[in-house]
Amino acid sequence: PAPKAASLSVQGVGRRFAGLVALEDVSFAVRPGLVTGLIGPNGAGKSTLINAISGVVPPSSGKVLLNGTDTAQIPVHEVPANGLGRTFQNIRLFRNLTVLENVTVAADAVACPGEDSRAAAMAALTVVGMQDLAARPASSLPYGAQRRLEIARALALRPSFLLLDEPAAGMNPAETDALIAVLRQIRADHEIGLLVVEHDLKLIMRLCDHIVVLNKGQMIAEGTPEAIRANPAVIEAYIGK
Ligand code: ADP
Ligand code: MG
Repeated sequence: PAPKAASLSVQGVGRRFAGLVALEDVSFAVRPGLVTGLIGPNGAGKSTLINAISGVVPPSSGKVLLNGTDTAQIPVHEVPANGLGRTFQNIRLFRNLTVLENVTVAADAVACPGEDSRAAAMAALTVVGMQDLAARPASSLPYGAQRRLEIARALALRPSFLLLDEPAAGMNPAETDALIAVLRQIRADHEIGLLVVEHDLKLIMRLCDHIVVLNKGQMIAEGTPEAIRANPAVIEAYIGK
C-alpha cells in the first residue's frame, strides 16, 4: 500500500496564562504540500499557537495531532524527529559556526548510519540558495540570509511540516522577495506542509493557499486569500480598532 500521508491537526486548542485567555477553541488542519498562513493583530495568540503545536507550551485544553499522536505527549526535543520542524520569531543560530556547520548539526541529528550529513546539509543550503555561502561564519551574514539559514537548518531535519514564526520580520523588500521564492520552492519540491505566521499581509496574500485568522485568541475566519481579503470580520479586526 502507498505510505500514509502525514497529517497535522489542531483540535479545539486553548491556552491560558494565569487569568489571561491567549487561545480559545482553535481548530484547523495544516495540509501537506500547501502553505497555510496564520495572521492576526499583535497579541492575537499566533506565537502561542505555534508553541502549542510544536509542544513547547502545551495547550491547556484541546490537542494537536501529528500523524495521530498528541504533540503534548512527545518530549520537546523529539518533536523535530517526528516530522515537525520550526523556526522562532527571534533568530537562534550558532553564531560562531559556519553556515554549513549550522545545518550539518541538524542533518547529523537525522542521518542514517553511514550517511553523509554534510552532503545533506549542502542540499538543504541549495534549497534556500545559500550553497555559495557555506564557509562563511553565520554571524557575518546579512539579516535576511540568517533567516534563510534558519529555514535550511529546519529543512535538514527532513520535516513533514514546517512552522515559521514571522520569517520576513526585519527583511527589506528584496530579502522578502527572495524568501517568498524559497518558500514556493519548498512547497513545489517537497510534500512539506508549511504554516507561516506573518505580519506582512501582502506577503501572506501572495504566498498562501489557505489562511487562518486569529483575533484575541479566537479563530475568526479561515479560507482562501480572496475570501479572507473580503471577510468583514477580518477587515474589522485589522482596521476597525
Ligand atoms: P502574537 O504572536 O499573536 O503577537 P502571542 O501568542 O505572543 O501573540 O501572545 C498572545 C497573548 O498571550 C498576549 O496577550 C501575550 O501577552 C500572552 N502571553 C504569551 N506568552 C505568555 C506567557 N508565557 N506568559 C504570560 N502571557 C503570555
Ligand atoms: Mg508572535
